[in-house]
Amino acid sequence: MSSPSATPTLIAPSAASHDAEGRARTYEVRTFGCQMNVHDSERLSGSLESAGYVRADAGEEADVVVINTCAVRDNAAGKLYGTLGHLKSRKDKHEGMQIAVGGCLAQMDKDVVQQKAPWVDVVFGTHNMGSLPSLLERARHNGEAELEILESLEIFPSTLPTKRDSVYSGWVSISVGCNNTCTFCIVPSLRGKEKDRRPGDILNEIRLLVDDGAMEVTLLGQNVNSYGVEFGDRQAFGKLLRAAGEIDGLERIRFTSPHPAAFTDDVIDAMAETDAVMPQLHMPLQSGSDRILKAMRRSYRSERFLGILDRVRAKMPDAAISTDIIVGFPGETDEDFEDTMRVVEQARFASAFTFQYSIREGTPAATMADQVPKEVVQERYERLIALQERISLEENQKQVGREVQVLVSTGEGKKDAETHRLTGRAEDNRLVHFEVPEGSETPRPGDVVWVVVTHAAPFHLLADSPDGAPLRIRRTRSGDAWDRAQAESCAIPASAGDSGAPRAVSLGLPTLRVGV
Ligand code: SF4
Repeated sequence: MSSPSATPTLIAPSAASHDAEGRARTYEVRTFGCQMNVHDSERLSGSLESAGYVRADAGEEADVVVINTCAVRDNAAGKLYGTLGHLKSRKDKHEGMQIAVGGCLAQMDKDVVQQKAPWVDVVFGTHNMGSLPSLLERARHNGEAELEILESLEIFPSTLPTKRDSVYSGWVSISVGCNNTCTFCIVPSLRGKEKDRRPGDILNEIRLLVDDGAMEVTLLGQNVNSYGVEFGDRQAFGKLLRAAGEIDGLERIRFTSPHPAAFTDDVIDAMAETDAVMPQLHMPLQSGSDRILKAMRRSYRSERFLGILDRVRAKMPDAAISTDIIVGFPGETDEDFEDTMRVVEQARFASAFTFQYSIREGTPAATMADQVPKEVVQERYERLIALQERISLEENQKQVGREVQVLVSTGEGKKDAETHRLTGRAEDNRLVHFEVPEGSETPRPGDVVWVVVTHAAPFHLLADSPDGAPLRIRRTRSGDAWDRAQAESCAIPASAGDSGAPRAVSLGLPTLRVGV
C-alpha cells in the first residue's frame, strides 16, 4: 500500500459556501468521542472555513451541521441517531440546511446512516475528511445525498487546514492508525494500520503553533510510543520528545496515549531530561488481571505495568499518572476483578477513566462467550470508582500547601462565574480552580499564575488566597495571542506592540501559511 501524502492539502473555495444572496453559509461541528476526534473536528472546521463557510455563533442555528462521530464510546449509535432525529425537525423548517455525518461510526456504518436517516446529506469516513466541502457542494448541486467512505488513508489529516479551538494549547498528530489488535477495540479496523508522520513535519507544525502563540502541545497517536515503526526507528518517540523540547517558546509538552507493551526506558529518560515535557503520564491499564489482558490481546502483564510506573516515578517523583480501565470484559471473574482492584490500589493513579465493557460490533470480543451480566458489571464498576475516588482524593490531598504553576484556561471551570474563581491546569495536568483576590490583576487565558493549593477534592484542587494577596501572574505570549484572538472576533484591531498577525486557518506546514 502506498504511503499517504504529507503535502499540504489546499481546499478550494466552494460555490456552496454562499447562498443565492451572497451570504456566507454558517456551519457547526459537533464532536463525539476522544481527543483524536476533537482534533479531527478542528480540521473539519479548517476545511470548511477554507471553502468559505463561517462558524455559526453560539446559539445560532447553523446552515450546515457536521457530526463527527465516535464508535468507541458507549452507546455511540444511540447518541448519533438521537441527534439526527432531533436535527430532522430543525431541517424541515430551515431551508437549505445540510447535515453531514463523518468519523468512526460513519466509517463503520457506511450506508446504514442514510438508510436510518435519509435526511442526512453527506456521509464521509475517517480517511477522507478533506472531501467534506466538495461532498456538501455535490449534494447541494445534485439535490441528493452523497456517501464517500475510503478504505485507506490518502492524505495525512494533518495536511488539512486546521481551525484551532485554543490559542495557548494545540493538538499535534504524530501518527494515525494502530498496528495492535486489542480484542475490544474497533480502531484498527476503522483507522487502519499505523502511519507515522515524518519528524520534520511534526516539528514544523509545532513551531507554527508556537509562532501563533501556543505554549503547550499534546502529541497525539493511538499508540504514541510505537511511533517510528514505519521508518524503522524504535527510539523515534523519545527522540521526538527531545527535539520538541528544543523549540523556543514551547513550555509544556504532553502526549496521549502510550501503550505499556512498547513503553521503553529511553522514553522515560527523554521525559525526565526534557524540561518542557510535563510530569504527567496517561498509561492505559485496561485490566489488572493477566488472564484478561491476554484475552484482550494486550501483550504486557500487570507486573510490567507497575514496573513502568515505578521507573517513571523514580525519575519524576511528582508525575501524576492517569489510566483507562475496562470493567466486565467477557470472562472476567470475581478473582480477575480483584486483581484489577489490587493493581489500582498499588498504582496510585491520580485519576482514571473507567468504562463498563459493552459490545462493539465488529470486534473479536463482541462474539466471545461469557459476556458478564450487566448487574455484575455495574456492581464492580461502582466499587472501582469508589476505590479510585478515594485514591484520587488522597493523592490530591498531598498537593495541599504546595505552590503550583497554573496555565490559565478557558471553559474548564463550569462554576467559575458563581465561585469567582478562574481555572487552569498545573504542570502535572491537575485541574486547579483559583481565586482572584479583590483588587488583583486578572490573568488572561494563556497566562501563567503561581498559586498555593488550599483544598483538595477527587477531581480538582482549590487555591484560595487566605490573606487576599494579589495573584502572582506571568503575562505570556499565549495571553497576548488570546487578546488578539478576542480582538479579531470582535472585529477590533489587535493591540499594537504584538508582533502576531491575525490568526487564520492554518495549514499543518509552515510553507503554506495562509494570511500571514
Ligand atoms: S492500542 Fe489497542 S486499544 Fe489502543 S487503538 Fe490500538 S487496538 Fe485500540
